[in-house]
Amino acid sequence: MDSAAGIEDRIREVRDTLGSSLVILGHHYQRDAVIQHADFRGDSLGLARNAADCRDARYIVFCGVHFMAETAAILARPGQTVLLPDLEAGCPLAEMADLADVEQAWAQLGQVMNVEDQVVPVTYVNSAAALKAFCGEHGGLVCTSSNAQAVLSWALERRPRVLFFPDQHLGRNTAKRLSIRPQEMLLWNPGRPLGGHAPETVRQARVFLWHGFCNVHQRFLPQHVRSWRERDPEIRVIVHPECMEEVVDLADEAGSTAYITRRVEESPPGTRWAIGTEFNLVNRLKDGHPQQFVASLSPQPSYCRTMNLITPRKLLRVLEGLVEGEMVNPITVPDDVARHARVALERMLEVSQ
Ligand code: SF4
Repeated sequence: MDSAAGIEDRIREVRDTLGSSLVILGHHYQRDAVIQHADFRGDSLGLARNAADCRDARYIVFCGVHFMAETAAILARPGQTVLLPDLEAGCPLAEMADLADVEQAWAQLGQVMNVEDQVVPVTYVNSAAALKAFCGEHGGLVCTSSNAQAVLSWALERRPRVLFFPDQHLGRNTAKRLSIRPQEMLLWNPGRPLGGHAPETVRQARVFLWHGFCNVHQRFLPQHVRSWRERDPEIRVIVHPECMEEVVDLADEAGSTAYITRRVEESPPGTRWAIGTEFNLVNRLKDGHPQQFVASLSPQPSYCRTMNLITPRKLLRVLEGLVEGEMVNPITVPDDVARHARVALERMLEVSQ
């Protein structure tokens, strides 16, 4: 039973036993051996919708990282339980902003402007529930890489400025698409007074970008794009908007994992792709489309360490627990946090309908 095949068989058996009381959600960055068991696979937005739509399931097992399971728990119905196969599977980007720092930034902005009238807080879904709640309480909302442009537009139609956290690159790349000029964006360093800027500079900015980044997507560099183009003039470069601005600017296209997947699926045989995102997804697209050429943009595969903490064995442990009446790694969010966070998530779901 300890062999990979034995674990796979056992997962299928346990799933049959649990029937429709169980739904397994899997993010695109999960390894093949795990995602093959997912009822739904997708990006953060798609999975947030799936989580909200899982009306009948009693148990939602989330094969992804902690903030995703937390989001599912916030959107879950009474009586539903969300479980994460490994509690260590966090997101280093999400951990780059915490509530105390964001509250402090908000208070500091309040010293130079009427912050509640002037600034909409927008959090990337890659963030703790408490930050989503902060946005819900202060007229803001959540975004994903699929809907960041629509969310930022929504926010800037309501107030003249946005505080965007924690991923500076998604914020910058998205603001740029909305024709916001570089001099209207300020990188906010949470360790310094007023983010490291003079009051006058802060008053002139339209988008405050938190000093956060995804280490997986920082590994894609401008020289990788140039090198592919020199070697292969036919190559199409497609990257995730968590990549730095210079990489996104050089790429042919940028979009969420759902967008990248769709573009490859819809392309004719012979299309050649260099893809700047997590390697499990790149490799799956390569295996699934042998009639196209698919490769990682970087010479070394870029894996997300924490996404890869989820293994079939850990998934099985959670499922067997359910059969035995034991909840292994349930994810809970305090009611008051969940209430405000739900407001921010529901605003997002409305904006991106
Ligand atoms: S790929 Fe980056 S943003 Fe996504 S879970 Fe891993 S560290 Fe977080």
